[in-house]
Amino acid sequence: MLTKKTFKIGGLQVWAERKRVRSVRLYVSQKDLQAHLTIPYYASEKFALDFLSKNYEWLKRTMEKIKENPPPALRQEQEISKAEMEKLKKIISNLLPQWEFRLGVKAKDWKLRKMKTQWGNCKMKTREITFSTGLIKKPLRCIEYVVAHELAHLIEANHSEKFYAVIAKHFPYWKEVRKELNG
Ligand SMILES: [Zn+2]
Repeated sequence: MLTKKTFKIGGLQVWAERKRVRSVRLYVSQKDLQAHLTIPYYASEKFALDFLSKNYEWLKRTMEKIKENPPPALRQEQEISKAEMEKLKKIISNLLPQWEFRLGVKAKDWKLRKMKTQWGNCKMKTREITFSTGLIKKPLRCIEYVVAHELAHLIEANHSEKFYAVIAKHFPYWKEVRKELNG
């Protein structure tokens, strides 16, 4: 299979793309409301198709749900001043060591970047964390949640039950704060 390809399954269109990932992933993007399939390089096209047919019912349901209740359009990008960037840097530099201590992990490096669809990102392999500059427009507790969340990925890579158990243990109000963050 080529790097990018579209599959049709039961009238649904799926945008498939090969990436440097460890496992196959099927999701509906909030950005374009389309189904996307990420496939590792080692997997065959047949594997991708089998995976799609196995998850067809889930995909159909998810697409229907999203169509019924589409997410609000992505917010207009807000300008972030230099002073705000400095302020955010300071806030995160303060929060990181506290949360590293609490969770018993250590990030190798971190940076700020303009991110459109994520508040943060943690590369488990390199232990590097990226935070969205947009966080400066959010209350401190939201920034703190993202710091805790990304560091918790150094314990558990995926958003598994185990991952949220770690979050809940150290950040009991995480659900409310996450709602506020994404609201
Ligand atoms: Zn995460």
